[in-house]
Amino acid sequence: MDKIGFLGEQIRELRDGGLYNTIRRIDGPQGAWLVVDGEKVLNFCSNNYLGLANDPRLVEAAKAALDRYGIGPGAVRSIAGTMTIHDELETKLAAFKDVGAAISMQSGFVANAGVIPALVEKDDVIVTDALNHASIIDGVRLAKASRKIYAHADVFDLRVKLAEARAEGARRVLIITDGVFSMDGDIAPLSGIVDAADEFEAMVMVDDAHGEGVLGRGGRGIVDHFGLHGRVEIEVGTMSKAFGVMGGYVAGPPALVDWLRQRSRPFLFSSAVTPPDVAACMASVEILAESTELVDRLWSNARSFKDAMSSAGFDIGHSETPITPVMLGDEKTAQEFSRRLFDEEAVFAQAIAYPTVPLGAARIRVMISAAHTGSDLEFGAAAFTRVGRALGVI
Ligand SMILES: *Cc1c(COP(=O)(O)O)cnc(C)c1O
Repeated sequence: MDKIGFLGEQIRELRDGGLYNTIRRIDGPQGAWLVVDGEKVLNFCSNNYLGLANDPRLVEAAKAALDRYGIGPGAVRSIAGTMTIHDELETKLAAFKDVGAAISMQSGFVANAGVIPALVEKDDVIVTDALNHASIIDGVRLAKASRKIYAHADVFDLRVKLAEARAEGARRVLIITDGVFSMDGDIAPLSGIVDAADEFEAMVMVDDAHGEGVLGRGGRGIVDHFGLHGRVEIEVGTMSKAFGVMGGYVAGPPALVDWLRQRSRPFLFSSAVTPPDVAACMASVEILAESTELVDRLWSNARSFKDAMSSAGFDIGHSETPITPVMLGDEKTAQEFSRRLFDEEAVFAQAIAYPTVPLGAARIRVMISAAHTGSDLEFGAAAFTRVGRALGVI
């Protein structure tokens, strides 16, 4: 008896619905161009916003750390002791984010699982944006608090939910939002959220994964972008996007970090990021702290690509950041568009469809990077235009 035969059935359904995701194989480092399945293609897929994923300064820092600390952290930090470089990274991150303290986690995904259940319990309420990232949703599921979902980026609805929570006698209330929403590129209305939070005595947590290295002075993130220092209790971040490496962190007041060292389950029960990763992360934070050059280039690249795509007649949604969704609607059109870009135009830009975005809202999400040159962006826009015309989208 084939007990997992149902999976084959489910996979067939995905293929029939145009929802099966083919994962490409990359041979070589990240950059504006990649070798994918043996072909050199323009990279419009990665979250390598600043081009740091293959920066020689990060690579050198990682090599030096290998020589000094070796490769493995040995065990969880709370048992085997914490290495000096993990502490150094945390100090640098806290200074960069202009908060009291930071704690390094294994990834952004893990950071959400590590912080949310550590802050709220049975008698508490989490109030969360309808379009929050999957890792926030999972972090919320791990917590014993009850939850209320407010309409996406809607401060009015947030207030309604906060009032309900208070009327129901909630003890602690925690508001959670993405900083930048990764599928549409819009920015959370954080000033309004923080005002509502003060009124209802709620804590605010923002996941700045797509905001750091992008928003704020020199990429300091969404809190800096809105000038809300000291008014957001919990910031979650990742080192895997603009910072170009991997790992995550939580930043905020010293008491928050102190508590997470005592009670955050991924910190207590999962080993730390390896020394070379940590050293590369530190080099990356240093590069951002020194100069705004890469962040400035990212924004000028984003502006020029968006102008070219709008002029060509594409619907590029309502993004306020370098994330550029090319809205196509139909799932099969989006898949066909992506396939033609790759096969005929040497452009690697992945279709994004349900369940990552709602049914009927399929798109190709273009991720612009400081690593792209002006001619890369012209090449990409021209390719989109040819395929768009061939498919009758523009
Ligand atoms: C990408 C992302 C994460 C996950 O970060 P990793 O470090 O890759 O695990 C978490 N939250 C948001 C909002 C993200 O966009």
